[in-house]
Amino acid sequence: MLLKRERELIVEYGLKLLESGLTTGTGGNLSVLNREHGLLAISPSGLDYRLSKPEDIVVMDLDGNIKESARKPSSEYGFHTALYKTRADVNAVVHTHSVYATTVACLNMELPAVHYLVGFAGKKVPLAPYATFGSQELADNVTDTIGNYNAVLLANHGLITVGRQIGNAFDAAEELELVARIYIQALSVGKPVIVPDDEMDKVIDKFSTYGQAGGKS
Ligand code: 13P
Ligand code: ZN
Repeated sequence: MLLKRERELIVEYGLKLLESGLTTGTGGNLSVLNREHGLLAISPSGLDYRLSKPEDIVVMDLDGNIKESARKPSSEYGFHTALYKTRADVNAVVHTHSVYATTVACLNMELPAVHYLVGFAGKKVPLAPYATFGSQELADNVTDTIGNYNAVLLANHGLITVGRQIGNAFDAAEELELVARIYIQALSVGKPVIVPDDEMDKVIDKFSTYGQAGGKS
């Protein structure tokens, strides 16, 4: 079986998306790239995460040619492959319709630094213009918008996060959903105060040594 470990990660993190409430039904999708082999494992289209097994996961190359699977790949394989081609630092992509991030996207707003945890994406989460799901136009809008950010909102659709590993992309999806929720709640009561740019520089710098990464401090 090609990309066995990567397929297992897609099954594991698909379930986590569901359990964490970041997605419902068969919404969203995820992929993991093996750069050495130039192949990615991607969730199958419209298949219940709870029923997906490693053999259901689709393995394709960066041009979208299927290398192994009986299943149809996610309808969004276009933006997954485009992101890997655009960003050499990215080996995993997560896409969700998480409620608060999608609410911001449906207002056609970016997610600003209303809370320092937006640093999981950068100084903000930019917004890609609307295009039909699964279209080349959507893939183009995503790669035109993402720059060096680790996330992008899709107008009237949802959120994409990227990372070096699937765990990073998943964590970003979870934390950015929290920030989006705080933003919507803050907007409903008053005028949110945005963390200044130079402070976000400090936060992003501190993130590189946060927790057990990079020694003391
Ligand atoms: P797939 O089931 O084809 O991955 O589509 C879900 C989705 O979120 C489309 O944007
Ligand atoms: Zn979607």
